[in-house]
Amino acid sequence: MANISKKICDIFNIDDKYIELDKIVENKIQNVFNEVESIALYNSCKVAKAFENNKVSEMHLGGTTGYGYNDRGREVIEKVYADIFEAERALVRIQFVNGTHTIATAMFGNLSSGDVLLSISGAPYDTLMESVGSMDNKNSLVGMGVIYKQIDLVDNDFDKDNILEYIKNNKVKMIFVGRSRGYTTRESLTIDKIKNIIEEIKKVNNNIIVMVDNCYGEFVEKLEPTNVGADLIAGSLIKNIGGSLAETGGYIVGKKEYVEKAEERFTAPGIGGECGATFGKNKEILQGLYIAPTIVMNAIKTAIYASSLLEGLGYKVNPKYNDYRTDIIQSLELGNKDKLISFIQGIQHASPIDSHVNPEPWDMPGYSEPVIMAAGTFVSGASIELSADSPIKAPYVAYIQGGITYETGKISILRAVQDMEKKAGIN
Ligand SMILES: *Cc1c(COP(=O)(O)O)cnc(C)c1O
Repeated sequence: MANISKKICDIFNIDDKYIELDKIVENKIQNVFNEVESIALYNSCKVAKAFENNKVSEMHLGGTTGYGYNDRGREVIEKVYADIFEAERALVRIQFVNGTHTIATAMFGNLSSGDVLLSISGAPYDTLMESVGSMDNKNSLVGMGVIYKQIDLVDNDFDKDNILEYIKNNKVKMIFVGRSRGYTTRESLTIDKIKNIIEEIKKVNNNIIVMVDNCYGEFVEKLEPTNVGADLIAGSLIKNIGGSLAETGGYIVGKKEYVEKAEERFTAPGIGGECGATFGKNKEILQGLYIAPTIVMNAIKTAIYASSLLEGLGYKVNPKYNDYRTDIIQSLELGNKDKLISFIQGIQHASPIDSHVNPEPWDMPGYSEPVIMAAGTFVSGASIELSADSPIKAPYVAYIQGGITYETGKISILRAVQDMEKKAGIN
């Protein structure tokens, strides 16, 4: 446990009162850190074992150009991913432009006109809404004839009775679960909750494809959705599982049949996963994966620190420092617009890249209110690095995530809090 000192406060112009607060917070969170460390140790072993099982070698670190046939590195990466997730097959590609593209590919590959897609965790993540068909887009799932149904959560858990009733009476092709709450006020869905509902679903109909949006969830718990019965999961490489080293890409993991269908959608029917050059990026993906459990741990520790510090200062936080976590998102209810803006600007000013930039709220496509973001990251938009986003609306909640080292994460949080309180005249 390392506390901030007078010297550190001087460097960053942090008020002395935070020395005492930092001590209190650190003391409080050590027990929780022990648990987080044991999860990181377990997941690190799981990853290391998968490297060993698949004989990852120096030759795998190179890459191909052109069609990318027989890319040994790519092939081993996909075997290692499948191994870690205890799944039959994985598709891990830098040609996926983001998480939305990856998740949409998995869904489009496995759904056709007339099929029913049932979301059981309420609305999917914002960026997926247009792909599913909430907006009038002929290229969406709904636009091409998929029937979309949604069952909202009840008391932050699955609405089991309604879900089972629905699948008993309707032919459902795919069930969709969003593990992370993203930027909403609902709780994230733990692996335990996901496990329970999958068991019930499979008892009624074993042929439904259970697909989980696993973004922000990887390595936060010891188990992943595929360990508890999910058939197909997908996520982004510039979040948890890329370990901050992967510069772009996404992954789809699950049953062979379903991943192969996604592959044909990813490239073209008949081509599938055979093609896709890797341009020397295999090393970053492998090394990022190798360190990802530790990087995720640092992000979680940063979130825990922020949660405890802000709660101690009288703000509402979610999750609380000692709550069970299944993703890396932390929300901090700051109570007014000015505090929210200065906090997010403070995160940006404490970032390694573009610390001199002052983010302002802007009208982002797809959002009804202006949004402010801090993302002073090495990889553009990578939210495994400390970053913060927020729509400017009551109750003025800042969503923070990431932090590739706990030390820089903690200092950045302290600096942002200090900026916010100073501007609000609290110091
Ligand atoms: C990030 C994220 C996505 C995908 O978003 P991209 O910004 O396209 O990478 C989907 N679902 C959740 C829960 C996410 O956090």
